[in-house]
This record gives sequence, structure tokens and C-alpha cells, in this order.
Amino acid sequence: MTASDRLRGLIRTIPDFPKPGIHFRDITTLLLDAEGLRLAVDTMAGQLTGPFDLVAGIEARGFVFAPALALKLGAGVLLIRKDGKLPGATIAEDYALEYGTDRIAMHADACAPGARVLLVDDLIATGGTARAAVRLLRKAGAHVTQAAFVIDLPDLGGAAALRGDGIAVSSLVA
Ligand code: IMP
Repeated sequence: MTASDRLRGLIRTIPDFPKPGIHFRDITTLLLDAEGLRLAVDTMAGQLTGPFDLVAGIEARGFVFAPALALKLGAGVLLIRKDGKLPGATIAEDYALEYGTDRIAMHADACAPGARVLLVDDLIATGGTARAAVRLLRKAGAHVTQAAFVIDLPDLGGAAALRGDGIAVSSLVA
């Protein structure tokens, strides 16, 4: 069995969450499995071409994988949060949702110009969140060329759009 098959078996789908018609990919079952968690982090790290100065995790489930990868890669962790959560001076970026917009933010002084930053989240769907994170990091002067996800939903086109932004995209389960 491939790593991808083993990991797929540890991720469950919850129908109609958070609203009817949405099939939510739930990684909490993967996180509960010690071997699965190690396999996920090791496989993610093996797909990357470093070096990286920082691993940027997107709130909230990106925060689980970013520190694990950062420790393996010898990098620090940069938090990308929902707007209004960070205590220091921030820069923000808006992105479109199905209805309306949302905003993510990071500390304005979180990365030095030219810092090599890896972007991490649990899942890429439409790519709206990850693409906004790349714009945000680039606005801060970061050098962002790679993004890693546990799950890619390729039918929604996010990974392809992110590649169009000049990002090499890797995932464990598609
Ligand atoms: P996107 O912006 O459409 O690519 O959606 C990705 C963002 O929404 C990520 O931050 C994910 O954590 C979250 N997300 C969307 N769908 C799911 C899901 O089925 N399971 C877990 N997270 C999801």
C-alpha cells in the first residue's frame, strides 16, 4: 500500500458539514494516529526542495503541520491568521468566498525581505485562501515558491491556480 493510500484511509469525510451539500475532509482522525501523523509529516517534508527560513501555517489546521515541518526543515514558524487575532502591527489580504470576502493577516515584521518561506495548510480547494496567503507573504517581501498540503481537491482548481502564481504545489492525497 502506498503512503498516499494509507493516509487516505486515515482521513474521513463528514457529509453535510458545515452546511448541506459540503463533504468535509476531516484530518482529526489522521492526527490521532501516531504512525499516520509521522508518515504524513515525513512524506510532506520529502516532497520539498529547501532550504527554507520559515514555514508559514494558515489558521487553523495549517498550524498543526507547520511546526512539525519547521522542526524537520530547520526553519521557524510564521502564523497566518484570521484578521484581528494577532497582537502586533499587521498587514492583511482579502480574498473572495462563495458569498462575500474574508481577510487573513500576518505580523508586518514577521519576515525579513527575501526570506525563503514555505506555505502549509491541511487542504487546498479553490485556492482562494492559499493564493491570498502567497500575496500576503510576497507583500511582506518573502520569497515564496512552494506550498504543501495534506489534501488537494483538484477538481476545484486551487492547485492549478497556485501553480499559475509561480508556486510548486505538493500534496499527500488528491
Ligand atoms: P480554499 O480557499 O477554497 O482552497 O479552501 C481551503 C481552506 O478552507 C483551507 O484553509 C482549509 O483548511 C479549509 N477547508 C475547505 N474545505 C475543507 C475540508 O473539506 N476540510 C478541511 N478544511 C477545509
